[in-house]
Amino acid sequence: MQKPLRLAAVAAACAVAGAALYGAGAATAGQSTANSTHEPYNIGLLVKDIDTYYGTAADAAGVYQASPTSPYAKDLASIDKAARKYIDQAARKAVHKGEKPAVVFDIDDTLLLSLDYEKRYNYTYNSATWAAYVNKADRPAVFGSPELVRYAEEKGVEVFYNSGLAEAQRSAAVENLKKVGADINLDADHMFLKNAAAPPSYLSGCATPGTWTCTTVQYKSGTRKHIERDLGYEIIANFGDQYSDLDGGYADRTYKLPNPTYYVG
Ligand SMILES: [Mg+2]
Repeated sequence: MQKPLRLAAVAAACAVAGAALYGAGAATAGQSTANSTHEPYNIGLLVKDIDTYYGTAADAAGVYQASPTSPYAKDLASIDKAARKYIDQAARKAVHKGEKPAVVFDIDDTLLLSLDYEKRYNYTYNSATWAAYVNKADRPAVFGSPELVRYAEEKGVEVFYNSGLAEAQRSAAVENLKKVGADINLDADHMFLKNAAAPPSYLSGCATPGTWTCTTVQYKSGTRKHIERDLGYEIIANFGDQYSDLDGGYADRTYKLPNPTYYVG
């Protein structure tokens, strides 16, 4: 994962911006209270909103789980329903035109839900705890996503994975995806992970061996370009929980899955 901006970082940035605005307002207006600032949404209330959205509750093992009847689950169900209808139609059209249809899925919080990690660490990010969490290979599915992967496969659509997870995390990702029932095309020709030590030549514009400067959009859109231009597929749909999974083209349609718990630019 590319350094996500979680809550602590957001709070710090807001505090700095707020202080600067307050200072300016107070100096020009000569008032003891600012009247021209926009107070950010309260962070404690935001956490409660997120809990409500996911229906977050600890299970018997103390693992935070999302509820299958939560607003989050309902949002996913409506996205999945629309995506199935579209995939069915787009796959037929593509085959009719002699194209090879493909779909692309992000992994973190598109297929594997990290809610337990986010809640446990109060929506902050730490590379060591994150790596340990991913390596447990025990994340639950994002509701409906493994079924959507299998649906695309059944419709004759080639499934690819496009993830910011590192090469070192490949075996854990494969194990976890198998565990949640997304057991389709989990080979290195279909699962693209971030290989900073030996980046592929199609990323040479922003990555050379040992030097990685690709933004998430450059990496992910560059990978989709490779799938279309070099491998000859037509990406009919691209699924991700971050806009940086979806920006940059090389997909006929994009599907943004909900994730209010962190931001990856
Ligand atoms: Mg993601």
